[in-house]
Amino acid sequence: MALYAELHRHLGGSVVPRVLWRYFQRHDGDLVSRFQDYAEFEDFYTRPRNTLDEYLELHTLVESVQTVDTLPYFIYRLLRGAYVFENLAYLELRYTPYLRTSEDLSQSDRIDQMAEIVEVVGKASQITEYPIVTSQILCMHSRLPYEVNRAIIDLAAQSKKYVCAVDVAGGDSHYAERLDEWIKLYEYALSLDINTTGHLYETTAGCYPELLPYLMRIGHGIQIPLLYPELLPDLARRGQCLEVCPTTYIKTGTLADIRLLKQVFERCFDAGVDIAICTDNAGLHNVRLPFEYENLLTYDIISFPQLKACQDAAFRHAFAWPYGQQPASLLNGILNPSPMKVAVGS
Ligand SMILES: [Zn+2]
Repeated sequence: MALYAELHRHLGGSVVPRVLWRYFQRHDGDLVSRFQDYAEFEDFYTRPRNTLDEYLELHTLVESVQTVDTLPYFIYRLLRGAYVFENLAYLELRYTPYLRTSEDLSQSDRIDQMAEIVEVVGKASQITEYPIVTSQILCMHSRLPYEVNRAIIDLAAQSKKYVCAVDVAGGDSHYAERLDEWIKLYEYALSLDINTTGHLYETTAGCYPELLPYLMRIGHGIQIPLLYPELLPDLARRGQCLEVCPTTYIKTGTLADIRLLKQVFERCFDAGVDIAICTDNAGLHNVRLPFEYENLLTYDIISFPQLKACQDAAFRHAFAWPYGQQPASLLNGILNPSPMKVAVGS
């Protein structure tokens, strides 16, 4: 059995439509009554949106029900599905902790409550029957003020048991007016020895070369090979990896045809830039990681050896994979204990 690493998945977008529907049936009759049946709800939930902003709006539907009390319910189902259907050995789960706190509290009380959210998510992610190695990425958010984003970094620094990195999310077209702030925040995160990734170069309106040097991985980054391939040698030199989430670009209207990704992969392979294939929002898309892989093969975007290279890259660039090499290599060592060379690291 092949085991996979998933580096880019949002807690909000990870709830598959059937699980969300069941939850609403039990707890929110009003919402259920707005839909004729499950099929209508699934269509509403998974249909492509015209823009990234419109798409992100849908996250608020799930965020509103993922509270300190309900998070264990959703996380249990998420890990069960990821283990049984996706063969995940490793999962980095990302979210903005502030958006899971109680809205009726003051900003400073909400900041205080974030630590509880991280703890709840961390504990709920340890499930004996579904033993996936998990860690959290805390997302700063373009809609949140500087103090809250800085508190998210402080929390990441204090919670290394559960948290492996920080990110920025909320639509990459919205960073421009506060670019100095984002640079300051990332400098601060790095000064505390926190790993960094960031949603960047996803859309043509979200390209900020000033932020690139601060990131260890790049969330999406597809516009770099598509529009600014001259930046690729710098990425290769810094050892940065792109977290490419194929289905997202169709669901957000960023790409008109998934086959446009062929150029993304080709240019990155040529330049020596690693790509980890990820789902972003496996629930919202109703597309699990193995189907992302299969789609790329079906559309002749990558070959099987290239897929393997991306799967290996995901383990190499994982922020908290504890074994230094991927499970297949570990298994090889057990089955074939004779001295063998295993490629580790880039
Ligand atoms: Zn994302």
